[in-house]
Amino acid sequence: MYTSQFFSDFKKNLEGQYEDCPGYRLLSQNQSFNPYNDLLCEDDIKRVPFVATTLFKKSNMLFKDLLRVKPDEVDKWTISSSTSGDPSIVGRIESDITQLRKFVELQNDIFRPNGGYDCVFYPHPHEMNSYASQLIFGKPTESYIGNVMSVFNFSKNTNFLLKLVDNDFVLDINTFIDFINRHNDQNDDLSIRGSTLLLYNTVEQIKNEISPVRLGKNAIVHTGGGGWDGKKGNISSEKEIERFRFVEEISQFLGIPEENFIDTYSFTENSTPITGHYSKEFKDYYFHVPEWIKIIIRDPKTLEPLEHKGAKGFIQVLNAYGTNAYAGASVLVDDMAEIISTDCCPECGQKCMTLSITGRVKGSEAKGCGATLSVRSDVA
Ligand SMILES: [Zn+2]
Repeated sequence: MYTSQFFSDFKKNLEGQYEDCPGYRLLSQNQSFNPYNDLLCEDDIKRVPFVATTLFKKSNMLFKDLLRVKPDEVDKWTISSSTSGDPSIVGRIESDITQLRKFVELQNDIFRPNGGYDCVFYPHPHEMNSYASQLIFGKPTESYIGNVMSVFNFSKNTNFLLKLVDNDFVLDINTFIDFINRHNDQNDDLSIRGSTLLLYNTVEQIKNEISPVRLGKNAIVHTGGGGWDGKKGNISSEKEIERFRFVEEISQFLGIPEENFIDTYSFTENSTPITGHYSKEFKDYYFHVPEWIKIIIRDPKTLEPLEHKGAKGFIQVLNAYGTNAYAGASVLVDDMAEIISTDCCPECGQKCMTLSITGRVKGSEAKGCGATLSVRSDVA
């Protein structure tokens, strides 16, 4: 349904953004782009100016200039978890959150909510949203991951393993050990979800103390929120986590088949999570681009759109929905992805663009990218 409507809905969203957001209008005018005249067919989408997600960083103080509504009209400010102390801040209104909920529900086949039992390496979403919340123009800041989790249907039997103790989140390892022991050899319908780093570090810690378990083929491991580089918020690991090693080690210790591992990629400026399933053969996750967004991969040096299989570059997301409060119709993220297929997942056959997401750019790559992104930043 979304595929056939995407172009017209995207055009409408972009024209609205051009009208409502002076910052985006200026950026477009500087690139001689006017959505009314220059976005006439699908191919024109490649020319649509994007907002680099770095512009939403708190330190740039531009987040209020990237709104489509007045600052006091936003319902909440969603913020990213930030290792550097410089989070992204995105204003949202209720309809944006409702849209996010719809998109999360449309991915229920892969998320498998309402299973028997959930064990989650995050705090309860309400605690996550209210933790360290501040007021900006009278509206609260909330964690974006908390927002995504708030719209997710966890089963009634959910253990949130991060507990608030003296205003700090503490991991309740004993509850996790009880959970895996209780479900050992039962083949119960269950999910272990949440922070990649916390799950990995926990298993590393307990595998010398207790024997491996067999949770079985009805169990899934659903990670999200990044952290593969070994850093997430104020949690850090000594080194980055290789995805195949994570899956192998957790799969062996918990007795969950590798094909039952999924990972969700999301970032604060986007309107939908993007989820991948692990491929044993590929030794990485295949991410399915949902039909309600479009992704363009851009060369990190030239920013030209790349279309061939194997091409690697920045991720630009075109959103037709769920960006009513902010300039999120066309955003460029400083994360890198590789095009696996433009139209079909090689493993499960689903008809969709398929990517492998390699994460933040680093080292020499980052230098080029940083320069590229700040050149664009000057415009807004
Ligand atoms: Zn697939």
